[in-house]
Amino acid sequence: MAKPTLGVFGLTGCAGDQLVILNCEDELLELTELVDIKDFLMASSGNDTSCQLDVALVDGAVLSQRDEDMLKRIRERSRLLVALGTCAVWGGVASLDRNQDRTRLLEDVYGEMGKKYDSLPARALHEVVNVDLSITGCPIEKDQLISAVASLLQGDPPLYPKYPVCTECRMREYNCLLIERGEICCGPLTVAGCQARCPGLNVPCVGCRGPADDANVESAMNMFGEKGIPREEIAAKLRTFAPAWGVNV
Ligand code: SF4
Ligand code: SF4
Repeated sequence: MAKPTLGVFGLTGCAGDQLVILNCEDELLELTELVDIKDFLMASSGNDTSCQLDVALVDGAVLSQRDEDMLKRIRERSRLLVALGTCAVWGGVASLDRNQDRTRLLEDVYGEMGKKYDSLPARALHEVVNVDLSITGCPIEKDQLISAVASLLQGDPPLYPKYPVCTECRMREYNCLLIERGEICCGPLTVAGCQARCPGLNVPCVGCRGPADDANVESAMNMFGEKGIPREEIAAKLRTFAPAWGVNV
């Protein structure tokens, strides 16, 4: 039986999620026995850039017409399209300025040359095409990527946590930086899956994985309020990685 075909693509971003794939050193050989990687520019210059794909993994956000055209072409080629990383799933750091005047931003940075650049406000992939699966993270967690590939090969959707980072933090019995030190920690609102990496190192969570479905936003905001942290400050911090947190300021 022919192996499923796979493509890995990068739109605008740091390409960190593609690097996570290349860093799966212990699993890569096994992976190439199970899937036929047809198109992966970061890994190979000998690609088939027009074949149909069973799965496309797409990293980065849509920040230009070129990105949009490329994403639509990938969508046409692929049976399943997977958004890989916070930029692809939520818009990421580049979406921080998406409500500002683009022409003025370009002019501020590039002067007169700004008018010539193909530059659009950042959009997540689902705002442009239909997305079948989202794997968030900045960058993604290697184990979530491997489990996604394994599940897709079995024909099942992978299951990821919907609960917040606080749950993982409490399970590991880390000290709470918000309650004990009054620091702004975005763990109550951020989706788990990183094993509370930052609080485990005594660093507050900055929300790099984006919003948790199961987060109780109002309860978290009340808790921040009791610590004297204004809503605007929390909202500004959360907007660093994703525009959509459901926090009303
Ligand atoms: S340190 Fe942050 S992630 Fe951990 S329990 Fe406290 S608020 Fe939640
Ligand atoms: S603790 Fe927060 S900032 Fe750190 S990796 Fe996890 S989601 Fe990202």
